[in-house]
Amino acid sequence: MPTRYAQRMAKVQPSAIGELLALGADPSIISFGGGYPDATLFPAAQLDAVFHEIIQKPGGASMQYAPSNGLPRLRDQIAGLMTADGMSCTADDVLILQGSQQGLDFAARMLIDPGDVIITEDPTFLGALIAFEPSQPRYAVVPVDAEGMQTDRLEAILTANPRAKMIYTVPDFQNPTGVTLSLARRKQLIALANRYDLIVLEDTPYRHIRFTGENLPTLKSLDTEGRVIHLCSFSKVLVPGLRIGWAVASPDILACMGLLKVAADTQTSTLNMAAASLFLDRYDLAAHIATLRAAYSAKKEAMLDAIRQHLPQDITATDPEGGLFTWLTFSEGFDTTDFMRRVALPQARVAYVPGATFFPLTPRANHARLNFSSPSLDAIRTGIAALGKALYANH
Ligand code: PMP
Repeated sequence: MPTRYAQRMAKVQPSAIGELLALGADPSIISFGGGYPDATLFPAAQLDAVFHEIIQKPGGASMQYAPSNGLPRLRDQIAGLMTADGMSCTADDVLILQGSQQGLDFAARMLIDPGDVIITEDPTFLGALIAFEPSQPRYAVVPVDAEGMQTDRLEAILTANPRAKMIYTVPDFQNPTGVTLSLARRKQLIALANRYDLIVLEDTPYRHIRFTGENLPTLKSLDTEGRVIHLCSFSKVLVPGLRIGWAVASPDILACMGLLKVAADTQTSTLNMAAASLFLDRYDLAAHIATLRAAYSAKKEAMLDAIRQHLPQDITATDPEGGLFTWLTFSEGFDTTDFMRRVALPQARVAYVPGATFFPLTPRANHARLNFSSPSLDAIRTGIAALGKALYANH
């Protein structure tokens, strides 16, 4: 690292597995790697129509600068969606972001001084760690089981970490494990955040893609003290290329994030905000999401069936109630990074994300994240069969 770079760049480095994932982009490889939605389900004709309409509109408003916190009409529509999801709010409670990723960056910049502690699930979303790193946090981690973050372990972690400022969680169909935080744990998490005066960063890009089971209340809807920052996004339910996400938070937090928004990029693209807004006016987002749910649910079933049929029995897979991922656990001592480099990519021609990369403190080698939303049903069956064959040959 050149000495002229600021201290905060010390840990800002390319991911150790970036090179490996780049190899997975080869079109002859079946990729279960990225967190991509199914591009064949993008509402392209509808987006074509709304972009055409907003650009043709006299006055050029969609091509002009817009308020830094987002177009009022879109904020109002999003407040409606959030209110329907149990978080009673108005347009004033919504800040439009350039994807929810920007909210992760802002939350860390707003709250974290070097050495302050962010509590995360273990494993957690890699992109969040990438966003947090320039703020030079330390991490304290809470293990995850089938009901999400093990909140009964949280109190001891909080006592041991007086500089803990924020808990980051993906409560619904977590990235990377696919698990969902139970209602009892949601309540416990909020109670502890209240007791220890913590901000809770609730990241919910997958929340609306539920296949089975009952919707659980968001942490924001359980928050009585204005300490939850709720992030959501159109990336998984509309298209990620729009780069539209948002935060719902208390007025003081939202004002602070609004100032960071001006500093970062002035505003999210007016064209994209106007297109999203008109899409919501003209089309039925809930119906589109229902299509996605059905398609991804079928793909998840196909992937789990193929895993049961083709992978060695000692490998377990989570069975998520929604979202985009399942999480594999191999036997202790198995190294998924090494296997991907030596066997999965060159021989089986299959890519996944080795699990080690999702652990903030102590990487565990015997996991892999598999995405089922992006590959076709055929690719899922062929790819898992090829992976199984390679595992049996090299186990
Ligand atoms: N949070 C989580 C948990 C994610 O998986 C992702 C994208 N994969 C994001 C945030 C960022 O999404 P976006 O910026 O596209 O809204």
